[in-house]
Amino acid sequence: MLPGPTIYLECNVCKNTIEIITISSGNAFFARYWTDDYSTTPKLPLEFSFKKCPHCRSLFWIDDLKELGVVDWLNGDDEPDKAWGKSKSALNFDLTDYFIALENNFPRTTEEIKDLRMNAWWLFNHRFRWPQTRNFFFKKKPLEPLNILAFHNNLTSLQDLLNIDVQSERILIAEIYRELGRFEECERLLDFEFNESLLNVREFILRYCKEQNSVVQDMTDYLNEKQRQAKEKYTLQRNKYIEYGINFVKSRAIDRGIATEDNFYSVVHKLSVEEFVELRGNYKDLHTIHFPKS
Ligand SMILES: [Zn+2]
Repeated sequence: MLPGPTIYLECNVCKNTIEIITISSGNAFFARYWTDDYSTTPKLPLEFSFKKCPHCRSLFWIDDLKELGVVDWLNGDDEPDKAWGKSKSALNFDLTDYFIALENNFPRTTEEIKDLRMNAWWLFNHRFRWPQTRNFFFKKKPLEPLNILAFHNNLTSLQDLLNIDVQSERILIAEIYRELGRFEECERLLDFEFNESLLNVREFILRYCKEQNSVVQDMTDYLNEKQRQAKEKYTLQRNKYIEYGINFVKSRAIDRGIATEDNFYSVVHKLSVEEFVELRGNYKDLHTIHFPKS
């Protein structure tokens, strides 16, 4: 990941200076995808729209604070303005912060409530994502004890905010049922004609639902394998199509006496576009393939 500009903000409670570090580009190559819709793809330019003041611990929306200035290290800026005072990096929410925020009308819109509840869910699930190593970001900070009641309350409230008529949200509602251990309801929601782009996710979640497994799952390898299989199937079909097409053109050319088995390829390269189009008949894609020269 490449560092982007650092933004300097003034806390509207304690008036101290807060740094927000951004990234300018990230690599999606190592991205992982989980069933709760969490992924490690780079989120540009800011991962969160809300943070915690490192000085006074108040919670804030980034776009609510007064911007003091920006230092773009990559663009040759090297020092923050001395007038901005001593600064510290903004903190991320911990689970308690999410619940304080939700209880105290911190979110201003339904979308923001949804955003907070999704992030709280992901934070809960991090313990299952990185159970042993915990990932180096969390190394110094022991995981908070799992509060099952808060986990359940958050998920049921989140479900109410999701729209069952939007397929990607229908899948999420089903995943919430699975994680709540309500497997029958999960299965009922998945019994639905999803768009092709969601079929693999549906199949993956359904498998764990049938095993009565309620833990969040990493589906990256499964999705990659499905993608590889689809590509392989396409290539096989395509090669078959080309093979049939070439044989079709060849037998037509031989039937008409314009080519023989031996000189077919050299003849086909000398045909005009119109002659070739006439000869290939319904194999409309054949002009895009490369006929061998001999
Ligand atoms: Zn503050």
